[in-house]
Amino acid sequence: MKSAFYPGSFDPVTHGHADIIARAAAVFDRVVIGIGVHDAKRPMFNAQERIDMLQKVLDDLSSNARRPCTFEIATFDGLAIVAAQEAGAQVFVRGLRDGTDLDYEAQLAGMNAAMAPQIETIFLPASPTVRHIAANLVRQIATMGGDTTPFVAAHVAHALAARVQQ
Ligand code: ADP
Repeated sequence: MKSAFYPGSFDPVTHGHADIIARAAAVFDRVVIGIGVHDAKRPMFNAQERIDMLQKVLDDLSSNARRPCTFEIATFDGLAIVAAQEAGAQVFVRGLRDGTDLDYEAQLAGMNAAMAPQIETIFLPASPTVRHIAANLVRQIATMGGDTTPFVAAHVAHALAARVQQ
């Protein structure tokens, strides 16, 4: 059974993340989504909120899946590659939106390979329909009262609107 580990902040989960997860699920038997919960990052949503929003997205993906895949959610507060090892993954999945992602991700992949040579990094190119989506811009749009429904699932857009009204 081939397992993939897909790490990120998921603050909050976007259509871009969901696209990568769905495509990883088409290839791997088990996909563990790792939510980085480093205190210094001051997230908009706490770990449990991010887990709950992600779980609902995974439920929707499971019901529309073309083949069986087990989804798991893990949180980590250290190195993502160590979390991937602890999750028993053979593959580390990252999404690539543009050249900036590529430069950063290529460097990260090299350093991760030095630390954990048994884990292979695989890049999935962003799908054209979601390539422009970035969680930090979604948060900014929500903070300025904009509509985030083009970028995130309805329950996430709801949570964003509720959070900025608090
Ligand atoms: P963001 O970069 O949007 O704040 P994360 O830090 O959680 O989100 O990113 C986690 C992973 O998801 C990274 O590999 C990133 O390249 C990928 N990713 C994020 N948004 C997209 C997108 N719209 N399309 C493809 N991959 C994406």
